[in-house]
Amino acid sequence: MIEAVYKIGRISPKKDFLEEFIEEIDNNYKNIFKIKIDITDANNPKYLGIDYEENDLSKKLKYFYKRGSANGPDKTPTSKITTINKTFKNKLKNYFKKFLNENKKLLSNEEQNLIKALQNLMDENFDKIKNDLINFGEQNGFLKDKDSFKEPSVITFLFRKNGIDYYIGDMDLFVNVFKNNENESYKSFYIKSNVTSKADKRYCFICNKIAEEVWGFVNTYNFYTADKKSYIAGGFNPSFMWRNYPVCSDCAKTLERGKKYIEENLAYKFCGFNYYLIPWLVFDDEETLMQTIKRFKNYPNFSSQKQKSALIEKTEERILRELSKLSNQINLNFLFYEKSKATFKILLFLREIAPSRLKFLIEKMDAVDNTPRKFNIFKEIKTRKDPLNFNFSFAFLREFFPNSKIDGKYDKYFLEILNSIFIGKDIDINFLLRRFMEKIRREFLNDQWYEPSVLKGYKILLYLEEINLLKRRRKDMKNYGNNFEEFFAENSIFDDETKKALFLEGVLAQKLLNIQYQERNATPFRSRLNGLKIDEKTAKRLLPEIINKLEEYDKNYYRKLEETLGEYLVKSNFSHYSVDELSFYFTLGMVLEKHFRQEKEITK
Ligand SMILES: [Zn+2]
Repeated sequence: MIEAVYKIGRISPKKDFLEEFIEEIDNNYKNIFKIKIDITDANNPKYLGIDYEENDLSKKLKYFYKRGSANGPDKTPTSKITTINKTFKNKLKNYFKKFLNENKKLLSNEEQNLIKALQNLMDENFDKIKNDLINFGEQNGFLKDKDSFKEPSVITFLFRKNGIDYYIGDMDLFVNVFKNNENESYKSFYIKSNVTSKADKRYCFICNKIAEEVWGFVNTYNFYTADKKSYIAGGFNPSFMWRNYPVCSDCAKTLERGKKYIEENLAYKFCGFNYYLIPWLVFDDEETLMQTIKRFKNYPNFSSQKQKSALIEKTEERILRELSKLSNQINLNFLFYEKSKATFKILLFLREIAPSRLKFLIEKMDAVDNTPRKFNIFKEIKTRKDPLNFNFSFAFLREFFPNSKIDGKYDKYFLEILNSIFIGKDIDINFLLRRFMEKIRREFLNDQWYEPSVLKGYKILLYLEEINLLKRRRKDMKNYGNNFEEFFAENSIFDDETKKALFLEGVLAQKLLNIQYQERNATPFRSRLNGLKIDEKTAKRLLPEIINKLEEYDKNYYRKLEETLGEYLVKSNFSHYSVDELSFYFTLGMVLEKHFRQEKEITK
């Protein structure tokens, strides 16, 4: 993985450090005001007045702008003007003093003296310079009022020495300090908590060459800090610690470049998570790598598009479809991460996934969606909003394992499932059904429409079954030759009497609820369903209760169904299944009741 980042670093363009470090003053800023100071006599600089020029984008490295903290000076004496008074007070007043304090070590005595003299000059002429700027603005029509300009403006310094003008970026004094930042910014690669880890003339683990100097804390993506508290699905070898991992300074910089390139070009989203897609070539070949990366860059960037959420899901999954077409020469690393201000946390690392694996996953997705079904249970449902489509999507899983206020935070579980699917690890049906039923029961008890959840849950099971990852109790299907066996044959999860019994009981219960609703415009029998916790006791209690009720209404059209159900029930062994699993089959039966209507009840 680190090697993959390194290879990307090697082919991404090297940029000058300052070019990247210094910020551009964009086109919105029209005016550059310059405080002119003659420094020919370094001990006694003289303030010359205010000067002006239009912003020139090609002068980025001359203006040398680098933002500082919000209420303190900027990193260089070039500042964007908010209000004139505020900018003078917060940004300019003590700039030179602060600059001197922070960079004393890097400045020669001569330079230090000049900075001191500049601070004195600012102290003495502070009000005069400020008023000059206001007057200059007023005379030339730049001012909106006494404290602000009409258009976004910038204030900077222009130094004159022996008749020649120097911008800030022309002065070594300022530039060198920031050039030094480059090394400074790599310091964390060899100093940590006051421990220095550097060695001379040792092998670099990346380039395998003896390097002048190797660093011990090169830690791209925090790969080698084994944070014991945080669980990382996908897994690293925590014994592979930094101490055993010396990297030369060139390689460290290349890694940083690769990392930056990946951040800017190979970052995607999936089901609410961010991930980097990092290709790894089985045979090293820069040209192919370059082409691959270019291809990835062309994949749509959904985060920037305002689309309907259903469409975003489709686009996110389309990437997988695209990737599945790649040659198996290219393996794929998926690095799911969470980034806050200072920390970068790896949530899941899917390592070297072959496109053929993706192809398998996608083909099975299509297979499970396109299987011809006599019982068309996954038919699209029209709603007032978008139609509900039940083609398998990873988003279904995310709905059961979300990160939400109502349901709770299930990120870890979702990623665990994702990991299992990608690497081909079994998933226990009870682990899934526990969550499925939690959500379905909540919806049921709140009188919400739970049909979509039940169908999506069932689709998830079918998909996992299709890719051979569903760990469940299996039995040889026995055909009882009744009317319902046709459905069970098509839905091979129903390979056992207990499941069939529960399913048919759900169908029957829903029929009673329908009749109750017709008769009374209410469904009081719902309260007999034990909140959809259908254990053995409830299952056995329900059958006679339902039959009694149907007889009471004189609408028991379902004797055949009851008979079949009774037959299965007698042969059931409830001890084989969890209450969640029993409840799920029952609920599925309720939801699919409409596929088992008889002529009699329809004409009714
Ligand atoms: Zn190296």
